[in-house]
Parts: sequence; C-alpha cells; structure tokens
Amino acid sequence: MKPVMHHVWKRLHQRLHRTPPPRPQRSHSGCADHVAVPPSPVAKRVPPTLLVSRLYQPSNLKDVGQDTRLSGEMSCRSQRLMQQAGLIHPSNPGCYYYLPATVRSMEKLVRVIDQEMQGIGGQKLDMPSLCSADLWRTSERWDLMGKELFCLKDRHGADYCLGPTHEEAVTTLVAHQAMLSYKQLPLLLYQITRKFRDEPKPKFGLLRGREFYMKDMYSFDMSEEAAYQTYESVIAAYHRVFARLGLRCIQVQADTGNIGGKLSHEFQLPADIGEDRLLMCGSCSFSANVETMTSDNNKCPACQTGILRESKGIEVGHTFYLGQKYSHVFKANFINSQNKQSVVEMGCFGLGVTRILAAAIEVMSTDEGIRWPGLITPYQVCVLLPKKGSKADEATASAEELLHILGENLPQLRGEVVLDDRTQMTIGKRLKDAARLGYPYVIVVGQGALEDSPRFEVICQQTGEAMFLSKDGLLDLLGRVETV
Ligand SMILES: [Zn+2]
Repeated sequence: MKPVMHHVWKRLHQRLHRTPPPRPQRSHSGCADHVAVPPSPVAKRVPPTLLVSRLYQPSNLKDVGQDTRLSGEMSCRSQRLMQQAGLIHPSNPGCYYYLPATVRSMEKLVRVIDQEMQGIGGQKLDMPSLCSADLWRTSERWDLMGKELFCLKDRHGADYCLGPTHEEAVTTLVAHQAMLSYKQLPLLLYQITRKFRDEPKPKFGLLRGREFYMKDMYSFDMSEEAAYQTYESVIAAYHRVFARLGLRCIQVQADTGNIGGKLSHEFQLPADIGEDRLLMCGSCSFSANVETMTSDNNKCPACQTGILRESKGIEVGHTFYLGQKYSHVFKANFINSQNKQSVVEMGCFGLGVTRILAAAIEVMSTDEGIRWPGLITPYQVCVLLPKKGSKADEATASAEELLHILGENLPQLRGEVVLDDRTQMTIGKRLKDAARLGYPYVIVVGQGALEDSPRFEVICQQTGEAMFLSKDGLLDLLGRVETV
C-alpha cells in the first residue's frame, strides 16, 4: 500500500471509530505520511457511520436450522432467509432472538403504526403482561382459551396468565374511572407489547411463534352508531399502514372466535404458505374467510353473479366490534348527556407487528435475498469500499468524502448508511451479501470515483436497476428516499 493510501485509510478508520483525532504536536513536515490532519468541521457533524465489519449480524451462527425442536420446520422463505442472514436466531420452540437489524426494522414499523393510530386519536399505554386469572374467570375466557393460555402461579398460589390479549385488563382500567364523561368519548387506548400464546406447533419462524409483538387497541364509545364510526376509522388507518409499507392487504369478513362480539374483519396478505383460506369474488370486492361461509356453492353472496375463488392468506390484522360484551361484565360505564350512567360500546383491533414484518419478507423476497418494505428496511444504503490492493483502492478517500456529503445534505439518512469495510473481500462477494440482506441502495466506490467528474455505481435492489451517477445524481436519488 502506498504511504498516502495508508494515511487516508487510517484517518477514515479513526473517524469511523470515533477515536480522538491525532495530537497536533507534529508539525507539518511536507510529507503527507506525517501530516496530522485536524478533523474537518464537517466530520464533526457527520454521524458515526456503521461499519459492516462491526454489525452484530452473525450469518455464521451454529446452524440450528435442522433442529426442528428449536425452530420447527424450516418450511418457509422468511424464516430461512431471516435465520441465514443473522436477523433472528431460535432460542426455544416458537421463541427467537431478534438481532439488531431486526430490532431497527421493528422500531420503524412501530413508528408507522404509532403515527397512524395516533392520527385517529389513539393514545398509547402499556399494560402488565402478567394478568390475574380472576379477570379472565370473570369474562369466562380462562377455561375457554384452554391450553393456549400460558398459565403460572405466584408464590401465594394465585393464578396468572401471560396476556395474549387485554380486553379484561383494559376494560377493568376504564371501569375504575367512575366519572368518565361522554365528552371524553370516543376513547382509543392501545399498546404495542409482547404477547404470549402456547401454540401447540410453533412454525414458520416469526409467523407463528409463542411470544410475539402485537398492537392491540381498544375503543370505547357512547353508542352503537358511534362505535361503528370508530370501527371504520380504525379500518381506514389499517389500510394506510399497509399502503405505506407497499403491501397488498385484503380485508375479509371473519369469524368472531373466542374474542366474541358482533362484527369482525381480518386483514390478510395473500401468500402460498398462508394458513387461512379465503374466498374472493371475481366480480366485486367481496371476500371472506372460508370459516364464515355457510353455503357450499361458489356464487358470491354480495353481487349474486360473481364466482368465488379460493386463495391462501397470512392474517396480519383482526378487528372486532365487541358491543357491551366486556363493558357489561366489568361495569365500564360513562355519564351520558342526560347525566345518567350508561354502558360503553367497545371495539378491539389487533395488528401482528412481528407477523407483519415476517409476512412482508415472505411475500416480497426472492429465494436469494430479503426484500423489505422500503420504509422499514434496517438500513437504506450500503457503501462498498474498494478491495484492498485493487486498482480502485485509491478511491477509498472518495468514499470518505461521499459519506460526508451524504451526511451534510441528507439528514433524513442519518444512521441509515452502512459502510462495507470488509476490504479483504472482493466487491462481488460483498455485493452478494448486500443482495441477501436487501439494502435498498448499494453504492460501489470504484475507479469511476477517481475520474475528473467522479461517478459511483448505484444498485437499486428493489428494482434490480444499476446505474452510474455523479455526486449530484446520487444526492437527487437518495434525497427521495422516504424514512420514518
Ligand atoms: Zn361478488
């Protein structure tokens, strides 16, 4: 390596690792190799870039894929891709470590959901996961749920369950507010927390686990009519969540199951591995879960003329109009406009957060690599440094400059750019890794960066398109990236 290159290299690493700048005692000797360059004012404002060599995303974890006791059958694409890429790791049946990149993606998904829930007036709270059996016995669900409930006893012998859903808890909370006024309604309370379900056969990775994240929202209204309006506003918010993720989601009529109530819809992502069977009309927008259909013929009950086709779906959301099922039992009342006590009308609305993430990967990815909904990808951009000792090695300094320019001009990409500094590996090998992990934009800093008007190769992994762009072209392209 040429001395000048060695110096640039060292400086880049010092900045990236945020080590203190070299001490300025040495005077300018005229020789580039000995100049102690003070950090430029720009560098101070550039966020610490993430180095691929330092990311905890181990793709070489001991392969437990064959151990079906831990991971179930490795029978779906999202589970295989996520495990192989070091995004998740099985711990015990139906439970996973979510490794850092997955947590980044989850946090973004949570922000999207928060924005849409709060956009319709939702207020976020957090309820205990340990739920008293007394509450569940009061609603008669303790026995109804049977073995699906994770049950445990405390040291005093009192029964608890790990909450799979929180109708009892939230209704009790609201019932404690003695003077809830009609003026405070509708009240929409939601949480995004871990939920537990003792699945007999956990499988498909995060799609059917025993411990998972769910958004559950509960609505409280003064009348049936108002409750239906709230129901519609939540459904509209759900459609906005899926639209922002670029997911085609089908709303189908559904069974109310053990949650109970009068009206229910499921939100389904069409997928071959889906465990729900759906019937969709070819002529109108009617669609339903097979479970809810009573007739055997394949005529559409809505338009009477269309033929129903069957397809499979992954359930990612479920809404219920509950009426007074829980509010009556737990005495959740409000003071109406005539100053009299009245029972609230309720709805409950679930979104499978981990399941949306895995289902999106399931339906968007190829067999070779993960494709994320652009908005919630762990990182938006991966910059590949030239291979050490290659002809393009000198372009390493251009990479440093490029990172500064991105940091200066595109603050929305702060923390979204990783640098593949594994320069002992060929560009080809690292491109393959990048394709597997699915960064939406991969920038190769090669010999083009050394030309009089520097150019960078950009690969848009969502479209498979590759192009050479100037710095301005790059800023223009990345400036349009949507982040959350
Ligand atoms: Zn129809």
